[in-house]
Amino acid sequence: MAGGILLIVSGPSGVGKGTVCRYLLSMSDTVKLSVSTTTRSPRPTEREGIDYHFTSPSRFKEMIEEGAFLEWAIVHGHYYGTGLEAVQNSLFYGEDLILEIDVQGAVQVMQKLPEAISVFLAPPSLEALEERIIGRGTESTEKINSRLTTARQEMESYYLYDYLVVNDQVENAAELISAIIDAEKCKVSRGVRPPGWGGERQ
Ligand code: 5GP
Repeated sequence: MAGGILLIVSGPSGVGKGTVCRYLLSMSDTVKLSVSTTTRSPRPTEREGIDYHFTSPSRFKEMIEEGAFLEWAIVHGHYYGTGLEAVQNSLFYGEDLILEIDVQGAVQVMQKLPEAISVFLAPPSLEALEERIIGRGTESTEKINSRLTTARQEMESYYLYDYLVVNDQVENAAELISAIIDAEKCKVSRGVRPPGWGGERQ
């Protein structure tokens, strides 16, 4: 039987990856979201082990040395990483796992695990993305400019991905990603066989 899908959902900073992935989770009983490790401080609503594993920069660096991460990156001055063991366990048990990660991390996973399916979430326009980043509120002009520059650069790597989904409406984007998962699960090249046909290719 074909195993679970490892799905990378990435895209520029501010495109709404988190919101789309949360909506996607609410649509499905089977899809799981990988819980990343980060060195940034928890936001008021965030919970340890559910939104992130929060840790110190020194512990994060130790974990890098220990080979604990499938990928890691520095995003807006903080470390973020995907734990290798949790991904391996998920794949072993045939679960569908989503990695909601930045573009640097996505490229690392594509190189290490070519079987991973990658989705680039794009904004309806560059202007819409800029408005979102500026509209986030309380950040300094310097920080906003740095985010804008990064987001424009991140947009340029869309061609590395298997799929491009435009986040015009959260529901539409989540439904498209859900359709991608369904289609991937029907692929004969992933080991799908007719009912009663047995597991392995003869
Ligand atoms: P936030 O701090 O707003 O939750 O996330 C900031 C950025 O870090 C987002 O673009 C998010 O996709 C990315 N991110 C979250 N977890 C990971 C991870 O494990 N690895 C990488 N490379 N990026 C991550």
